[in-house]
Amino acid sequence: MAALPPSAECVIIGGGVVGCSLAYHLARAGVQPLLLERGDFGSGSTARGAGGVRQQFATEINVRIGMLSRQLLENFEAEVGATADLRLVGYLFVASSDEQMEQLARNVAMQHAVGLEDVRLLSCEQVAEIVPQLNVEDVRGGTFCPSDGLAGPNEVTSGYVNAARRHGAHVVEGVAVEAIERDRDRVVAVVAGGTRVSTPLVVNCAGPYAATVGAMAGVEVPVKPFRRHLFLTERFTLDPHPPMTVDVATSFYLHTEGDGLLLGMSDPAEPSSFDTTVDWGFLEHLVEHATHRLPALERAAIKTGWAGLYEVSPDNQALVGESELAGFWLCCGFSGHGFMQAPAVGRLLATEITGAQSEIDLTPFRPDRFARGASTREDAVI
Ligand SMILES: Cc1cc2nc3c(=O)[nH]c(=O)nc-3n(C[C@H](O)[C@H](O)[C@H](O)COP(=O)(O)OP(=O)(O)OC[C@H]3O[C@@H](n4cnc5c(N)ncnc54)[C@H](O)[C@@H]3O)c2cc1C
Repeated sequence: MAALPPSAECVIIGGGVVGCSLAYHLARAGVQPLLLERGDFGSGSTARGAGGVRQQFATEINVRIGMLSRQLLENFEAEVGATADLRLVGYLFVASSDEQMEQLARNVAMQHAVGLEDVRLLSCEQVAEIVPQLNVEDVRGGTFCPSDGLAGPNEVTSGYVNAARRHGAHVVEGVAVEAIERDRDRVVAVVAGGTRVSTPLVVNCAGPYAATVGAMAGVEVPVKPFRRHLFLTERFTLDPHPPMTVDVATSFYLHTEGDGLLLGMSDPAEPSSFDTTVDWGFLEHLVEHATHRLPALERAAIKTGWAGLYEVSPDNQALVGESELAGFWLCCGFSGHGFMQAPAVGRLLATEITGAQSEIDLTPFRPDRFARGASTREDAVI
């Protein structure tokens, strides 16, 4: 294990895509953070995700964050010096009730007002033109944004952590933070691998473990872990290649992955837990919805499946900002959108930490919004 320094300007706890993005953006801004990851970089939720990057959300802030992240991912190679494996294949949302269509129409109107110009509302026939293999007998319509798509979680995370190191960040794997020390209402140190590192600034980027890390500092962080599954088919191609396609009613989604299809769906009955074992019984449930929407999947065989954890906040929005404990910041609770939000949020939070005004107002993400009665729910969650 690498020796830890006795002090650091800033300690970031958690080296998933969020912590690595923050470490990079801070180091680039002239702060030299110490990034501590208890496993390998990117081995938590980041390694289990579907790689979706979208701008189609129901709240303005998430649309703005999505647009900035897309821009950063488009420039990733030039800026960070590594590929983000960005594929702008688009996101297609498919609605099967009038209520869902009304919600999508409201979303599109807001997205246009925010400046997301290429998203459009579709009729049932237009949905079928994009993915001809879909069963559209119960479909009312949908939305499509061609500048949404997919990117590589491993590529983005390793790109950020390597660039952070080059810019002077101290990045350490295999060391767990065991304690956080406070002096009355201010954070003063972390203890990791038996070493005390004094610091005036700690950022909690522990993903689904954000509440556990918060408790070390005596701060209640309202983030709960929920298991989510993904299944990969054996070789199975659709012609033309489908965009990321989401069935709004069931949350079933699919996209091309290598020479197969990646299939996902959330389970509203799933209780909060840290369990990441695969429940193969859930696959049957998913297949039922999947083959209704895409009957051709009856011919597909499942090659593998895995489960990971969403890190869910009470309103499905991230928690970004200083907590009630001075110097203890939160950057967590991304509620299943952390990969796509990490580029923008890492940059915006680094700007704030260095004392400047960030280009997007992060007020809706502030951790004290629940106490203020000012939370806005994000409903476009998968
Ligand atoms: C099945 C599935 C599909 C998903 N699909 C998408 C998608 O398409 N698009 C999208 O944007 N998001 C998706 N997500 C969500 C996304 O993966 C997460 O939001 C994102 O990875 C969160 O990143 P993170 O860095 O906050 O968390 P993590 O990657 O979990 O990183 C947190 C890190 O903190 C470390 N840690 C915890 N405690 C300590 C400690 N005490 N000391 C040191 N280190 C500690 C952990 O080891 C971990 O590596 C999906 C998630 C799942 C499970």
